[in-house]
Amino acid sequence: MAYDFLIVGAGLYGAVCAHELNRRGKKVLVIDKRDHLAGNIYTEDVHGIQVHRYGAHIFHTSDKEVWEYINRFAEFNQYVNSPIAVYRDELYNLPFNMNTFSKMWGIRTPQEAQDKIREQVTSLHIENPKNLEEQALSLVGPDIYEKLIKGYTEKQWGRDCRDLPAFIIRRLPCRFTYDNNYFNDRYQGIPIGGYTAVVEKMLSGIEVRLGTEYRSLMAQEPDIAERIIYTGCIDEYYDYMYGTLQYRSVRFETEELPIPNYQGNAVVNYTDRAVPYTRIIEHKHFEFGKQETTVISREYSQEWKPGLEPYYPVNDEKNGALYEKYAERAKADPNILFGGRLGKYRYYDMDKVIRAALDDLQKI
Ligand code: UDP
Repeated sequence: MAYDFLIVGAGLYGAVCAHELNRRGKKVLVIDKRDHLAGNIYTEDVHGIQVHRYGAHIFHTSDKEVWEYINRFAEFNQYVNSPIAVYRDELYNLPFNMNTFSKMWGIRTPQEAQDKIREQVTSLHIENPKNLEEQALSLVGPDIYEKLIKGYTEKQWGRDCRDLPAFIIRRLPCRFTYDNNYFNDRYQGIPIGGYTAVVEKMLSGIEVRLGTEYRSLMAQEPDIAERIIYTGCIDEYYDYMYGTLQYRSVRFETEELPIPNYQGNAVVNYTDRAVPYTRIIEHKHFEFGKQETTVISREYSQEWKPGLEPYYPVNDEKNGALYEKYAERAKADPNILFGGRLGKYRYYDMDKVIRAALDDLQKI
């Protein structure tokens, strides 16, 4: 066989695996069906602005080893994510913090905010939150749920908040300090020069074939590698034999505007259901850009269907059970390792992808 490992997908999981295996002297081939590296963390230079083509990616982690690892491939800037939420003509800070509560209720102290939430939540009698709606209501009460969570979540997931898992809303901090940092993590930033350069560096010295479909390669060279690391959708790999897993896709409307500053912040969420997009990203603000023009992307969430890009697994019970069947089936193929968001069907952040890749490689 020509290669020890064939890695399908040049995204973050595939690139970390390729880098580590190559470092250990393995012969590695990376393929990707797209004509560029970096999967969904791909960034592209538009007049000096790094545009996140497949959605905004902000690196954050509390895992020191992962932070040190990614810093070997890039220098990170001091960006701290502090999104703004727009609900009709009202504007709030995210995540849910004293700035949000103060604007919502005209209060000032943490005690007042806690009392307000307790007063709203007690009457709801939610013991163990079973779904996203109950989780959100019990964390912040109905005022914030109705204005900042319900509409956004239903647009983002195309499902009723009662049909979504509670963990999705627990991604967001809720704190009683005047702190607009969207993440609780110890480390955060954007790689200077963009994510594509990070992946290029990981893959330097490794053979990569872009524009290459896994199936056509295997049809031509079935014995090309000893083992396979597959980062595409696991259900697709098995020809949907147990049925299709659900994913959410995103359509981006990206435009360059002849003005230096469109919205004054990298991320502005539109939480009202009546606005068709979920958020507008102004890419230059991730890097404190001073260019004369700006590039913005409106994000429209939609259900995935063949032909679209899958972005988010829909981790509800039904899909969870279906994924387990595929994971069980995969055990019969010990020469294939499934990884990344699509291979593992998990709503992974980038740091968790790196952690999983490093841990999975230990097991090989
Ligand atoms: N969310 C919300 N309102 C917001 C932002 C987020 O209700 O203004 C909820 C929504 O359900 C979303 C989840 O929080 O799916 C997680 O948000 P996050 O920003 O982590 O989503 P991502 O950036 O991964 O799309």
